[in-house]
Amino acid sequence: MKAMVLDTIVNLGENPEPLRLSQLEDPSPGETEVLIRVSACGVCHTELDEIEGRTPPSHFPMILGHQVVGTIAGLGTRATRFRTGDRVGVAWIFAACGHCKFCQAGNENLCPDFRGTGRDANGGYAEYMSVREDFCYPIPEQFSDVGAAPLLCAGAIGYRSLRLSNIKPGQILGLTGFGASAHLVLKMARHRFPDIAVFVFARSEKERAFARELGAAWAGDTTENPPHRLDAIIDTTPVWRPDVEALRNLEAGGRLVINAIRKEERDKEALLSLRYADHLWLEKEIKSVANVTRRDVSEFLLLAAEMNIKPEVEEFALVDANRALVELKAAKIRGAKVLRV
Ligand SMILES: [Zn+2]
Ligand SMILES: [Zn+2]
Repeated sequence: MKAMVLDTIVNLGENPEPLRLSQLEDPSPGETEVLIRVSACGVCHTELDEIEGRTPPSHFPMILGHQVVGTIAGLGTRATRFRTGDRVGVAWIFAACGHCKFCQAGNENLCPDFRGTGRDANGGYAEYMSVREDFCYPIPEQFSDVGAAPLLCAGAIGYRSLRLSNIKPGQILGLTGFGASAHLVLKMARHRFPDIAVFVFARSEKERAFARELGAAWAGDTTENPPHRLDAIIDTTPVWRPDVEALRNLEAGGRLVINAIRKEERDKEALLSLRYADHLWLEKEIKSVANVTRRDVSEFLLLAAEMNIKPEVEEFALVDANRALVELKAAKIRGAKVLRV
């Protein structure tokens, strides 16, 4: 099979072609695994973190990609859940142990043996991949392969972050950063709680205009003062300044949810401007979002189908994965980037 392979950690600024097109043997599924013929794979900010070493692959070479849609092309000897030809998706959670205290409590996202698709096991930047059958999800019929791919990460993790925000009807929800995940969160939030107001903090006027188009009640720059304090803010940026500003804008008892797998170091000094009285006092909380559970993915796919979500998608060929990543890094983003395999 053809695959785009990462051989080592690379600084994308110095090397805009970190992935190498290679010809590999097709994977063969283990006993409880399925072989998937990949048709689409979303391109995620986490891939930048993997390539640049902020959340490095656990071994090399590695095939990245954790928003995979395809059809079952082979079954392990004990795999019975799907049939050949069924359409399935694979998300960031590739496997968890199933028996630790976290797995037992449904928090498999916190499992010490959590394995990320495309980081700890080969993912979807390839013609085929194999994965345990119980870590696959049927894709609702109404979605195209390319349209479903971005739902599997940005959407599912966005769903988890919205759950963790603890937002209630009638409250004000903030989103700081307005990429693929946030625009889905905005739609989900307005669907689940028609009477909440969503405020969007984003650097570019283009993003802010897009937010207003999608129904944001207010959109401004990260450093602007919104007309009201916010009950919860979800941060999807890779940097620190937006968190400092978000804490300042939180209502008493409000919660900042940081939905980022890693933070970059470049503006870390922003944290030195934290003042306890302004940013933390009055029981303001900070909570991070780690990974996803299968429940998040399954529930979100059903919600997305119910809402008839159609993510804006920009398609790239598999061999153009490097270009998609460089453009993602440059924040040339309106919708989600998807490789058509
Ligand atoms: Zn992702
Ligand atoms: Zn576990």
